[in-house]
Amino acid sequence: MDERGYRDELASICKILYDRGLTFSSGGNMSVRVDPEHIVITPSGRNKGMLRGEDMIKVNLDGEVVGEGKPSIEVGMHLIYYRMRDDVGAIVHCHPPYCTSLAIMGERLKSNLTPEGAVLLGEVPIAPYGTPGTTRLVDSVREHVFSDCLIMERHGALAVGSDLISAFNRMEELEFHARLQFIVGDRAREFDAEEIEKIKQG
Ligand code: 13P
Ligand code: ZN
Repeated sequence: MDERGYRDELASICKILYDRGLTFSSGGNMSVRVDPEHIVITPSGRNKGMLRGEDMIKVNLDGEVVGEGKPSIEVGMHLIYYRMRDDVGAIVHCHPPYCTSLAIMGERLKSNLTPEGAVLLGEVPIAPYGTPGTTRLVDSVREHVFSDCLIMERHGALAVGSDLISAFNRMEELEFHARLQFIVGDRAREFDAEEIEKIKQG
């Protein structure tokens, strides 16, 4: 795919996230790797459901903007994944209501409630709070860079994938699991390690 294609796909995924109630107003930021040295990321402070491909900001892996515009304040958080993991091709960070409720309470997300959760999510750590856009937040997230999903304390959630669709699917599954946890409450039963292994092999 060429850069234009990635920009348009990013705008489409942002709109789907918005339409499905996974992100609201200017909250969240999403990015995709367009070549080994560059990503495109959502602009800062804009409603993420109303962006076009040309609104996305191109940034190199050192964080320098190529062209014009103000990238997301969380660009540094995105870049640590692209720098440290060759398998990451896209990142979705947003503030979905159920994940964010767990984040506010500092409560662990139970990811092994269904087979899909066990396969897609794995263990979901909580990254301790850091003020948005600061190195403190980047450092907090860096501690968990090899997890594919994250709850960001008192803030929201993050999911990565090899491409935008897999990052989106992880985020959708993450929010689904957070929601299940609220529905079933204390009766939420997770699979044990032995069954998780079997599910992953199947
Ligand atoms: P940006 O609009 O700058 O990406 O900020 C939104 C956000 O979610 C900060 O964490
Ligand atoms: Zn955020």
